[in-house]
Amino acid sequence: MKQKLLTSFETHVIQNKGTEPPFSGRYTYTDAAGVYVCKRCQTPLYRSEHKFLSECGWPSFDDEIPGAVKKIPDSDGRRTEIVCNGCDAHLGHVFTGERLTAKNLRHCVNSVSLDFKASESVATERAIFASGCFWGTEYYLGRLPGVLKTTVGYTGGHVDRPTYEQVCGKKTGHLEAVAVDFDPTKISYDRLVRFFFETHDFSQKDGQGPDIGPQYKSAIFVQDDRQSRVAEGLIDELKAKGLDVATEIKPSATFWPAEDYHQNYYEGKGASPYCHKYTKIFD
Ligand SMILES: [Zn+2]
Repeated sequence: MKQKLLTSFETHVIQNKGTEPPFSGRYTYTDAAGVYVCKRCQTPLYRSEHKFLSECGWPSFDDEIPGAVKKIPDSDGRRTEIVCNGCDAHLGHVFTGERLTAKNLRHCVNSVSLDFKASESVATERAIFASGCFWGTEYYLGRLPGVLKTTVGYTGGHVDRPTYEQVCGKKTGHLEAVAVDFDPTKISYDRLVRFFFETHDFSQKDGQGPDIGPQYKSAIFVQDDRQSRVAEGLIDELKAKGLDVATEIKPSATFWPAEDYHQNYYEGKGASPYCHKYTKIFD
């Protein structure tokens, strides 16, 4: 079996059953989707779905890939040691009865015993738009090819974890907004911003359509300077056409996803929005 050459610290943990200092490992807090493999022999050991945050200072998993991990009594006579079933690399210890997750198991693993392989995924980019009732904004943006995911929520205000009722109360500073995660190799940010303008009345200052209130204002929350330049350029283009633009460009702030029943509201209802419609503006 092909095995990786280990550094002295890796040897200390993996071969000589040492322990890395708590909170020092690179995987203590990671939550990306993928698979954790044995550092030495690359056998897949844990999936990201098994990982949970335990505050113990080491990566914690409440399950393993079937057959990947061997449990043996630790030489201390108390604990149960876990090793890679492929190469016997020391991983850490497994604890039961702590009731931290439903499975009631905690594989406490040294980061240095692991490598992480991210799931095959495209590098996604995020755009955040507010154009009135977020059901309508999502209805249009969610159907563009290259858009991977849309989430309706609240952003731009000063209240943490706002509820729909709080936002309707108009005192949170938040706007109803949609986070659009897209594949920039399939659709550009420029195209999204154009479509955003073409699907609402960006000249309306007090809300959108019949929805009146500060939470329904038109805004683009930009993630970086490049997005900001694209959005400003298109607003200039609209003004050059003689159009009024009430849309504000704002720096992106924490995006608070809305309650589940607001997500993909129009999907499967056979209804379409009352508050948004498509009007071609750009060539
Ligand atoms: Zn191994």
